[in-house]
Order: sequence, then C-alpha cells, then structure tokens
Amino acid sequence: MPGPPAALREALSAAARSPRLLVAADFDGTLAPIVAHPPDARPAPGALAALTALAELPGVTVALVSGRALADLRLLSGARAPIRLVGSHGAEFEDGFDAAIDTALREQILAALTDIAEAAPGVTVEAKPAGAALHIRNAAPSVGAAALDRARAAARNWPAKLTAGKAVLEFSVLHTDKGAAVQRLRDELRCETVVFLGDDVTDETVFDRLGGADVGVKVGQGPTAAAHRVEDPAAVVAVLAFLRAARDG
Ligand SMILES: [Mg+2]
Repeated sequence: MPGPPAALREALSAAARSPRLLVAADFDGTLAPIVAHPPDARPAPGALAALTALAELPGVTVALVSGRALADLRLLSGARAPIRLVGSHGAEFEDGFDAAIDTALREQILAALTDIAEAAPGVTVEAKPAGAALHIRNAAPSVGAAALDRARAAARNWPAKLTAGKAVLEFSVLHTDKGAAVQRLRDELRCETVVFLGDDVTDETVFDRLGGADVGVKVGQGPTAAAHRVEDPAAVVAVLAFLRAARDG
C-alpha cells in the first residue's frame, strides 16, 4: 500500500508539530467501507488501531463525527475513550444533545416517511434520535428517486433541516452540522490545528471551516472544499499511520 501523496504528507508533517492537535473523521465511507446494509458497517482493517494509537499520544485528541446516532456509532466503530464520539451530524455529544429536540415534529416526519417507504420497494426509514432518514440505496433508481421527490414535497411543511447524502435524505429536528461540532471540539480543547477526513457532502461543512495549518482530506470522488484527497478507507488508515509516525517521531 503506497503512503499518502507528497503534498498531503507535507501538510500532515506540519500539522503534527502543533502543540494541540485534533484529528477528527467521519465513519461511514471514511473509516468504514460503504455497505449495502448500514448495520453491517465496520472499520477497515487497522483503522481502529490507528485511531487508538493516535489518541494515546500527548496533545492529540481523536474524534469520530458521524451522521449516525451516537449509540450506533459507538457500537459499530468499536471506538472507546479517549476517542471522542459525536453522533447525529454533530448534534449528539457524549454529554447529551447540543440543542432541544422537537419530538412531536420527529414523530410526524417518521410517520410520513414510513408511508412513503411502504409504497416503495427497497426504500427504508431509519429512526434517529433527532430526526429520521430515508434510505434508497437498495431501491431501483426510479423507485428511489420518486420516494425522494415525495419526501422533499412533504418536507415543505416541516421546519426540519434536510441533508442529502449518498442515497439517503435526512431530516433533522435540530439545527447544527458537523462543521459546528468540530468547531466546538476545537474550541473546547484549544487545538491550534485540525486534521479532518470525510467522504460525504455533509463533511463539507467541516472542510468549509478549515484554515491555516488545518488539513482537510476528502475520501473518494466528488466535489470538495478539502485541499487533499485519498481514494478509500484503506488510504485513510495509511494517513492516520503517517500522522502518528510524524507526531511520535
Ligand atoms: Mg461518510
């Protein structure tokens, strides 16, 4: 496995010299290969060990920031303290939600999405602590597209935040994003530098806020505000290993 590209190695080496460094990453598609059945997602070989080794270094904090519910993220990632976990697109910290949840609105959205999914083979609804998601990954393209259209039409009546991901449309009754969550961690830990890795459109809210010696790494294809790009979760493991060696050596 070749190491990270030269420009990325250079940026990581500079970031590694920061007194306090925050290394944050998305989970699905970044640390864990995308799978057809979301509960089957698991970290790529070596990913958890690489994160844990980084988290044990002085002055380094490691955080996973995912769209999944915090409990799911903890279960599927296998990550434990001192690795920090943030779920629900930045809304769900380990000490609780960052904002109040509109539970009545959440129930209304869940009921409407369930109606839509029942009429669309392969489309599923995921109940989330602060909202709901409509998944179309396992539906025929035309069926999935029609289900998304119906959900978007219904959403015009809801004061919920919509987030479109890969083959998923999420409805949040909280108003925050991953970018705000990483900013909160950066401020709380007084980290001078952030390294963030992510693959999905929701991760752009983090890349948009990076500056200075921060390092943004987009995983896979697609437009991005990140300055660097790697191919897949295996390459992410190589980035983490490189960063650890740079920090440790
Ligand atoms: Mg992802």
